[in-house]
Amino acid sequence: MKKYIFITGGVMSSLGKGITSASLGRILKSEGYNVTILKFDPYLNIDAGSQNPFQHGEVFVTEDGAETDLDLGHYERFLNENLSKENNVTSGQIYEAVIKKERKGDYLGSTIQIIPHVTDEIKRRIRYVSEEKHKDITIVEVGGTVGDIESLPFLEAIREFKMEECEGNVAFIHLTYIPYLKTTGELKTKPTQHSVGELRKIGIQPNIIIARGEKDIGKKEKNKIALFTNVRKENIFSLSDVDLMYKVPLILYEAGISSTLSRILHFNDREAKLDSWKEMINKGSRRKGTVKLAIVGKYVELQDAYLSLNEAIRHASFEIGINVSTKWIEAETLESSTSELKGMNGILVPGGFGKRGVEGMIVAAQFAREKRIPYLGICLGMQIAVIEFARNVLGWKDAHSTEFSPETSHPVIDLMEEQKNISNKGGTMRLGAYRCDFIKDSLIKKVYGNKAYVFERHRHRYELNNRYREALESKGLEIDGEYVEKHLGEAIHLQGHPFFVGVQFHPEFKSRPLSPHPLFLAFIRAMQGTLKDEEVFA
Ligand code: GLN
Repeated sequence: MKKYIFITGGVMSSLGKGITSASLGRILKSEGYNVTILKFDPYLNIDAGSQNPFQHGEVFVTEDGAETDLDLGHYERFLNENLSKENNVTSGQIYEAVIKKERKGDYLGSTIQIIPHVTDEIKRRIRYVSEEKHKDITIVEVGGTVGDIESLPFLEAIREFKMEECEGNVAFIHLTYIPYLKTTGELKTKPTQHSVGELRKIGIQPNIIIARGEKDIGKKEKNKIALFTNVRKENIFSLSDVDLMYKVPLILYEAGISSTLSRILHFNDREAKLDSWKEMINKGSRRKGTVKLAIVGKYVELQDAYLSLNEAIRHASFEIGINVSTKWIEAETLESSTSELKGMNGILVPGGFGKRGVEGMIVAAQFAREKRIPYLGICLGMQIAVIEFARNVLGWKDAHSTEFSPETSHPVIDLMEEQKNISNKGGTMRLGAYRCDFIKDSLIKKVYGNKAYVFERHRHRYELNNRYREALESKGLEIDGEYVEKHLGEAIHLQGHPFFVGVQFHPEFKSRPLSPHPLFLAFIRAMQGTLKDEEVFA
């Protein structure tokens, strides 16, 4: 069977289309279907890699090294499986492909137009993923809001897609917003009526409406929406704000969304096996006690930039059964005073780019090292730990990364020779999964269940400089993990410290609610003071 579900958004952005798509994926996968999820992003960037986190939040990285929209992270976490570069399609990629074909002469002299050339390329991408990966159900989230100029080619393509498929193979879900007007105490359906009107103008009649908002809608609103949008009232679902995104699959399943979909798409309405999912949520609600974690970063006011990190902490916190209260510290503030770090059970320095805040992060690493507070350095956070150690233990006061100080006489973090001539910015970092071999019987190896190696995801340019390995190790900063092929340091730890760990990769991208990441589990245990020597995770 080959079924397709398209999800569009109305009224405004940030309503949780990504989480809704991911939740549908979870439900249908729990029914035993082979499901995948695609995200269409209507912007002209080739990928999210070159985008400022202030505009688009976190750049998520897939196993095969694509820099994608953060919704891919939701999909992976809810589906509990890896997706790939084909799962995130941008307008930039579509136009690039069409123009390349035109230059090659593949269109045999035709005039290249949005319809059919651009729309054909969009449809080809959907079928490619569904067919190549043998999926029963392909969910496609169309980014942007209906009414935007940018998303029109995608909407036209999915309209055509439905016409090309057999009856009963395609369903349209429209996720919209129902504001609550305090002055009159009313839920307002008008924006939804307009938004569906807009969709119908371009030939798409939604089968299902999911109404988002602060409050649940009732019969009255459903009747009204049904009347004005031509959607049956039993196909209108209410989805008000929840305190935990992982509850959304349960809410939608209870409300009967999968039996509605099975009627529209003519597939068997199976029971969804959501027991382990429910247990994960229950574990979270049974948490007792709290540890305090300081996260020292650059974009602290912008939580979307650290979405996967926050989720990875949540997964481990649920699993261990302890609350983790996170205090986000603007790195620059630590340059003048460390008072913000007092009383913290752990310090984490996440990934990042650019010089701002780096000195403050170095202060944080020094504080953790000297005061024996558990430290986890991720990517830039590992580089920071190395710089701090080189300056304050090895005594090289100007030690730095050449990213921040090209002139330093101790470039402990540097570009590899072959990287030094790269001029293109997009897609030229070390990206995606690389093998990390554990070259020593260290704490980190144990944390990973004593495996010989693991694959972890990368997104960075600079590397630990091998010239300084011996000096670092002679004073106790051990390099435990390595990408052997290129002799690149991947993981470090400090001898004699309860937990001082740095990794050149991003473990947060591989943490899932149903399989929390071992490094985060161990880090929280260390913060609790209960990390035992013989304990292994994973
Ligand atoms: N800026 C550093 C580098 O490019 C670290 C990147 C990161 O933390 N993702 O190597």
